[in-house]
Amino acid sequence: MPICYRAVHARSPWRKVQIHQTLENAIDGRDGAKALLLRKGRVGKKWEQYGRPLCVFVWDSAKPSGYLLRLSPDNAAEVQMVELSIDTILRHEARESCSAMEVKEYFKATARTSSQIEPSPIDSAKSPLGVETPERIETNRPTFLRDMTVRSWIQQNAAGVCEGCGKLAPFVAEDGTPFLEVHHIRSLADGGSDKITNTVALCPNCHRRAHLSRDRDEFKALLYKSVGRLVLE
Ligand SMILES: [Zn+2]
Ligand SMILES: [Zn+2]
Repeated sequence: MPICYRAVHARSPWRKVQIHQTLENAIDGRDGAKALLLRKGRVGKKWEQYGRPLCVFVWDSAKPSGYLLRLSPDNAAEVQMVELSIDTILRHEARESCSAMEVKEYFKATARTSSQIEPSPIDSAKSPLGVETPERIETNRPTFLRDMTVRSWIQQNAAGVCEGCGKLAPFVAEDGTPFLEVHHIRSLADGGSDKITNTVALCPNCHRRAHLSRDRDEFKALLYKSVGRLVLE
């Protein structure tokens, strides 16, 4: 359901309504935000049930922005409306609340003239929401069974020195050994062998460089040149 309506009441911090089919309906309709704020019609009865409404958020989840409505602080017969970015709205949706202070800021912010371009407190609202409990997905990635004797030979042979940069391993692992990663020059996925002639011990930086850097081909050539046991595959 793309049209979302959330009313913030004195006794209900985030009342969700999903009955509206259009934004117009959610704002101006018989059960819309304006009728609620002005305490009109059957939707006005919500005042008794949930307390005075502080504001109403209305948005179309397919659009980049939505609206916040409130009663004018100066005129209780007038409804005011501001446009807010969907990011800002979703921040409240995640928290399921909006404070009186925040409502005030939103209305104040839009009243600013364009010459006042000092960063407003709402700008910080644009920081990413993140996810409280990321969804867990099952991946069935094929993995290769690696020869552990190759792995430990490579690590012992390196004796704690990265074969890429010649520097010492950056830290000691939990098991007491210097931390280096075993990298296959020609990847297993690409048909490379799991032999000492195709593997090197790299510090994490060099390992990332081997996979992700712009100069990874040159880096690979350098490894072939500097590590005598490697055989081109
Ligand atoms: Zn290194
Ligand atoms: Zn690797």
